[in-house]
This record gives sequence, structure tokens and C-alpha cells, in this order.
Amino acid sequence: MSKLFGTNGVRGVINQDMTVEMALDVGRAIGTFMMGKVAIATDSRTSADMLRSAVAAGMTSAGSSVVDLGMLPTPALQYYVKHSGVKGGVMITASHNPPEYNGIKCVDHDGTEMPRVKEEGIERIYFERSFALPGWRDVGSISRLEGVGTSYANAIRRSVDRSAITEANLNVVLDCANGAGSVTSPGLLDSLGVRAVTLNGNPQGTFPGHPSEPTPENLKDLMAVVKATGADLGIAHDGDADRTIFVDDQGNYVYGDQSLTVVASYMVQENGGGIVVTPVSTSSCLEEVVKRHNGQVLYTKVGAPIVARKMMEIGAVFGGEENGGLIFPEHQHCRDAAMTMAKMLEIIAKKGPLSELLKEVPRYSLDKRKLTCPDDKKEWVLEQVEVHFAEEKIDLTDGVKIYFEGGWSLVRPSGTEPIFRVYSEGKDAATAKRCGDECEKVLLDLLAE
Ligand code: MG
Repeated sequence: MSKLFGTNGVRGVINQDMTVEMALDVGRAIGTFMMGKVAIATDSRTSADMLRSAVAAGMTSAGSSVVDLGMLPTPALQYYVKHSGVKGGVMITASHNPPEYNGIKCVDHDGTEMPRVKEEGIERIYFERSFALPGWRDVGSISRLEGVGTSYANAIRRSVDRSAITEANLNVVLDCANGAGSVTSPGLLDSLGVRAVTLNGNPQGTFPGHPSEPTPENLKDLMAVVKATGADLGIAHDGDADRTIFVDDQGNYVYGDQSLTVVASYMVQENGGGIVVTPVSTSSCLEEVVKRHNGQVLYTKVGAPIVARKMMEIGAVFGGEENGGLIFPEHQHCRDAAMTMAKMLEIIAKKGPLSELLKEVPRYSLDKRKLTCPDDKKEWVLEQVEVHFAEEKIDLTDGVKIYFEGGWSLVRPSGTEPIFRVYSEGKDAATAKRCGDECEKVLLDLLAE
């Protein structure tokens, strides 16, 4: 059967891949599958109304009813779904993609991203066109609900040490990237007693400030304003505000693996140990610091929903990805940008400036490569890589991770493109390159066969 949902739901360019007809049928399939009350929300994109209307119409035609929450961060929709007893949620977003993109992502009844097996249920209905078509008495209705952003922000405020944050008298700069975080994060900072200068804080679907992926290139203004104002912290959200990237009090961009490690260090110290869950691709700096504080790291396959579900299963104290997607179990089991922001403020209030906290985190060098490989050869190549490195210490959680002297490489076939990705990490650039070279040579030999 063909796939409809990729790793980030259904995503594409509006009126090319993502047409209103397609969205209507996706809505019919979701409505047929969920058969009950379903919440829907959007980010700030220009096509938000078009897709929300089509998906909602489809769901009601199948007999589901719809609660329209308006524009919200993805984790705010997830918070509502978890606490309201609805059957599930639909988020209209393309996260950090360019403005011409949009997408449809499903949320399970417990507020986590929908597991693959349920997505397959929706896909089956979509491709077989086995939509429910109830009589006129039983089609669904649409109601609108205001104020979910406020109850979500209140829940975050209750999950952190509010008085410590307020007493620290912090000055921050917040960059909402003209995305959905504009609706909730400025107000949350106000209620925490933090003075904030806000950049790109009005929701605008053309993203006039900068593209919505929080890369160093896109956060130049944020870094400059943190420096110019002598702020304690710079905070940047991606387009649907499930991820947060920081700029430290010196105006330096902080890479996601570094901030993930600072927060993980605090969480294991607060909990007197515990398990931190992260994908197998995450930098070793996390494990080094977590172990130092008597915590453990558990590695999963790549993907935020997989991390979240593993955390629930084992009762982890913290988890996350190195792209700024951090998961706090005391709040909810999904990536949450505003919660990440609030927790970092608590950490700074209690432990001191971020630039100082980063000194605890070891630096590793990264080496990233792509090698073309036909899809039908991927499985065989991966098996042969495993055989080739059988003498080394290897981890088969996702692809093949090989531990070399002073570094490691992760060899993974892409799920969407005819390529292999090779991520390598080492204590210095030369070690990372040596790990990458060794894997590349093995892959090239196999691909030539
Ligand atoms: Mg996102």
C-alpha cells in the first residue's frame, strides 16, 4: 500500500501537492477512523484557513464532530487533546518548511503524535476510499473554542519554579519567527515576570522576518539584539513552536545538542538520577554529562514520537532531540517549545548564566555525508555494513552505529530519499573525518558491487 503520512504527517506545496481536494479526502479518512470529537488547530501559514476548512468539512461528512481551536503551537493542541477527552487532534502545519508548504499531522487521544499503526488505518481508508457516509441526521458539526493557548501557558507556569524565575529579574529576547508561538510565548514570559523584547512576534504566514527553521543564519538578528541589549538569554521557536533554540548571554548561538545537555544535566540532578531518552544520532556529550550526575541515557530510533513513547513506557525523567525538540514528562510527552523556554529560565535563575553552564558540556566535532543508493539495495547494503564491522562495538538501534577509537559513525538509509546518511562524531575534526572516511569507503565498495 502507498504511504500518505511521512515522518512529519502529510506535507507539500499548497495547490500543487496539497490541494483542497486531497485535504478533503484526508479529512474524510480521519473522520471515518476517529469517529468522535476531534480537535483541530493551525500554525500561521497563509493556507491555514484553506486546509483547516477542507479537513474539517471532510471529518464532519464522515460523522465526526470538530472543535476548532484556531491558531496555536502544536504542543498546545496536544495539551488540549490530552486533557479534554477528545478522540484525537489534527494539526495544520509544515513546522519549519518554507511558507509555500503546509501539512496535516494527526495527534493520538493521549496527546502524543499518532503511532504509525494508526496512521496506516487512516491511509487504508484514504486509498480504498472507504469513507463513512452517514445520513443527514448524523453528519458532524463544528464548534469553536477560544482560550486554549491561555490554559496551556498556565499549565507550563505551574510546571516550573515560577517564583525563582520572577525573583531572578531576567531580561530576554524572544524570536517567534512570525509563527504560532506568537500566540502563547510572549504572554507566558509576562506571567513569569520576565522582561522580554520580542522579534517577529506577530503571526504572518509569509514569514517576513526570516525562514522558520532556527539556524544560525536565520537567527542573526536575535544574536545581535541579545548582544545590544545585554540580555540574559535569546529564545527562538520554529514555525509551529514545538522546538526552541537558544542564544546565550554572550550573544552566541547554542547548538541543540548543547542546550539539550544543559537541560538533561539539570533534570537528572533534580531527580537524583533517572533515565534520559534520546535518538541514537545524538552527540555523546549528552551521555557523558548525564552519567557524571548518576543518570543513564537510553537510545531509540530517530524520531520524536518514538522518543516520547519510550519515555512513557519506562518513566524517563527527560528526553529530546538535538534539534531543540525537548520533552518534559511532568508537563506532557511531546516536544514543547514554550515548556523548554520556561524550564531554561528556571535553570538560569537557579544555576547562573547559560554561557557558564555550557562550560560543563564537552565539545565534539561532527562530520555529515550523503551517499546515493538505490532503494532496493538499501537493505542488503545495511546488512553488509553490519557484517563488515562485526569485530567493532556496534549498535543496531537504527541503521548501524559503529564505535571507533575516540568517535563513532551512524550509517542510516533515508526513509524518503535514495541515499544513505553517515553521521560521524569525534573528539576533534580529524577523528570525526577519519570515522566518516572509513564508513564511506566501505559503502562505496558495497555500492560498486
Ligand atoms: Mg516544528
